[in-house]
Amino acid sequence: MRHVAVLPGDGIGPEVVAEAVRVLECLRDEYALAVEIEYGLVGGAAYDVHGHPLPEATLQLATSAQAVLLGAVGGPRWESLPIVVRPEKALLGLRSALGVFANLRPAILYPQLAGASTLRAEVVSGLDLMIVRELTGGIYFGEPRGVRTLENGERQGFNTLVYTESEIERVAVRAFEIARARARRVCSVDKANVLESTELWREVVMKVACRYPDVAVSHMYVDNAAMQLVRAPKQFDVIVTTNMFGDILSDEAAMLTGSIGMLPSASLNETDRGLYEPIHGSAPDIAGKNIANPLATILSVAMMLRYSLHEPTLATRVEAAVSTVLDTGLRTADIAETSHACCSTRAMGDAVIAALRAPLS
Ligand code: NAD
Repeated sequence: MRHVAVLPGDGIGPEVVAEAVRVLECLRDEYALAVEIEYGLVGGAAYDVHGHPLPEATLQLATSAQAVLLGAVGGPRWESLPIVVRPEKALLGLRSALGVFANLRPAILYPQLAGASTLRAEVVSGLDLMIVRELTGGIYFGEPRGVRTLENGERQGFNTLVYTESEIERVAVRAFEIARARARRVCSVDKANVLESTELWREVVMKVACRYPDVAVSHMYVDNAAMQLVRAPKQFDVIVTTNMFGDILSDEAAMLTGSIGMLPSASLNETDRGLYEPIHGSAPDIAGKNIANPLATILSVAMMLRYSLHEPTLATRVEAAVSTVLDTGLRTADIAETSHACCSTRAMGDAVIAALRAPLS
């Protein structure tokens, strides 16, 4: 039996997570998926009850589960709280407690939604790229850091970009393994012409590449990668990069698809335990209205099936069910073109479950 911790969080989190859990339950009841689901509080919802966005009970639940499904955290209600108890603090706490060093962000443009991108359809149509971002090292964590006052009285802000060989190696291995199950191409993004730490990054990636002769490797400077992502994004299969470069490039890649409500993510540790969440936030502007798009969270369940529960066939079935539903023209407001009537969060969940139940053609 695999344990899945479900942390709905705030805003639209509980609404979209409810649909994703119904999908998991459907797989449990009708496809014999051996899974036990347990709920925990996180974010503002946890603060309201326990005075902390990541209570000990939630941390225990998350660290003992094979996978964690998270909705989203945060909202105006908690914005004036001290930073240490803000809902968003729970995200960093969860990531570091779970040791999830590899953040996987696919940017997939479903052909049915080609009109949603700001780029021309021929540039993005069929886009299917995976960004693997290093998540627990680099400049976001490096010491020393801070703001100091120099002898001349001027203040100076400073951060440190550090990577050890083992930190680079483990995320590179993950990227090559993922590429093996895809189109077998890895592009490592760095700034090796300027930054010594990413010179080492490139060196280690090249060493790892020798262990994967069946995967083509290339290297690109981050400024060029940012440009290539909007010029010809379909040239990429898997991109692996540092924490900060990945943060920026994955948001850029997400917007190629034009629909924040469609994009899932996974963050994995060494033993395939993972944190799965849609890339969007708690969307307070539409919370409680039953109009949010649950597909990013449902697709996060598909990633969970593939990477933590080792059920690739069921993962593919969920992804195919989403595609079938899009084929029917059903759209939530965020992905609707004017010709489509918008459906509710629940109706979208119902349709995915109906497609899952339909016999395979
Ligand atoms: P957001 O992603 O919540 O919303 C941005 C826009 O996209 C909004 O107009 C929203 O209505 C829309 N949107 C988002 N998800 C949608 C969905 N599934 N269906 C339809 N429309 C959707 O970003 P924001 O407004 O900058 O942040 C709102 C709150 O969420 C803040 O408190 C922020 O800190 C938090 N946040 C949390 C996470 C997380 O939990 N991982 C990530 C980002 C932001």
